[in-house]
Amino acid sequence: MPSKPPRPETAAPAGTGIDADTIAAVATAPGFGGIGVVRVSGPRVDQVAEAVAGRRLPPRQAVYCTFRDDHGDALDQGIALRFPAPRSFTGEDVLELQGHGGPVVLQLLLDAVLAQGARLARPGEFTERAFVNGKLDLAQAEAVADLIASASAAAAQGALRSLQGEFSRAVLSIDEAVLQLRVYVEAAMDFPDEGADFLAEGSVDARLTDIDGALETLLRESRSGVLLRDGVSIALVGAPNVGKSSLLNRLAGQERAIVTEIPGTTRDLIHVDLLIDGLPVELVDTAGLRDTADQVELEGVRRARHQAAQADLVLLVQDDRDAAEVPAELAASPLIVVRNKADLSGAVTGQLPADAGPKTVRMSARTGDGVDALIGLIKQTVGFGAEGRTFTARRRHIEALKQGAAALGRARTLLAEGAPAELAAEELRAVHGALGSIVGEMTPDELLGEIFASFCIGK
Ligand code: GDP
Repeated sequence: MPSKPPRPETAAPAGTGIDADTIAAVATAPGFGGIGVVRVSGPRVDQVAEAVAGRRLPPRQAVYCTFRDDHGDALDQGIALRFPAPRSFTGEDVLELQGHGGPVVLQLLLDAVLAQGARLARPGEFTERAFVNGKLDLAQAEAVADLIASASAAAAQGALRSLQGEFSRAVLSIDEAVLQLRVYVEAAMDFPDEGADFLAEGSVDARLTDIDGALETLLRESRSGVLLRDGVSIALVGAPNVGKSSLLNRLAGQERAIVTEIPGTTRDLIHVDLLIDGLPVELVDTAGLRDTADQVELEGVRRARHQAAQADLVLLVQDDRDAAEVPAELAASPLIVVRNKADLSGAVTGQLPADAGPKTVRMSARTGDGVDALIGLIKQTVGFGAEGRTFTARRRHIEALKQGAAALGRARTLLAEGAPAELAAEELRAVHGALGSIVGEMTPDELLGEIFASFCIGK
């Protein structure tokens, strides 16, 4: 809760590592609640506890006390909890003061803590300290923020798995295999004569294949993880009256867009946020994609085109009784054609057999027939799999995995061409560097600063 600006004379820039300051912040969400927590971390915790809670606190025991300011005036009463280093969230001495959850009373409590020489924590600074003290690696620290920000139960479960280290372990186990291969390749460098035979031997290639497969799997799982966290945007386009708004309502399961029989009335964009099997989806109903002379509608059509170009996926809705044509301007977008109003055409609903054309589902927004096939195809098209592990992942993780896979590919080519082992070893070092950046080994300070600064104060 940014109730007070950080004090610039004491707050070091984010990402520059640990200082000896004791930091404090309100750790609960701003607003009114049954309880509110002030969290304190650093060397002055015992002093703060004695001054504010009025006594020395036993480790990890809830103690009921009266909280007082530095004049000894009572501010609130509640529970004080002390976690001595290193068995705490940050790895430092930590104090939690659980008072009543009102903004004023918590501010007074925070002021009393600051009066003892603590300073206001920067956003994410508690988690940053946990990272620096080795309590969490970087991917786990990011998972703390993701767990808090989860938009669905599936996202929360994914974030918890990452927080518990499942993602990091997957990364590190690939890294370990890369390391072993590097040792092997570097050993070959020491024996220039036998080295080439050594490397041409089958086991190197088998190891490369294993690592490559593991990277591919993790990349696929991570893409699902990013989707779980960031969601996808889906644009509904199509001629007026084909049933876009009806489809949106069907998917949302609630009446959010006005369904009308008059063509061209969806002049502006209607956004609906929904969850499809845990996948956060922003569905945008656009104005009909058609040529029109009406100025207001022209603007709507322009926005529809723009929206379609921006979306992760376009659903082109058509009346199943009309010709199946895909406008040239949509050819470049990831696309699903929805042949709607199957109840009127009488055709069988479901996904149409894949031929050379775009992915197509026949359904009825009115009866709901075929909507499951559409949902399945949406998930498949954006790469959101129920199969495999799910954990939250970020775009930077994907980038790092891609870089790792690319460097591995180069190493493989070099080895296959019989290039000097040094060159392949160099590429394997690059794979190691890319994987290390995910868990925070060899991650530049600026990036660390950026990651932690995106947290809220108190985390
Ligand atoms: P939009 O202009 O593309 O958004 O189309 P609407 O969703 O407003 O639908 C136009 C008309 O078609 C409305 O009368 C809907 O009730 C009707 N409609 C939409 N989907 C279906 C469907 O699957 N079957 C039938 N019979 N009518 C539908």
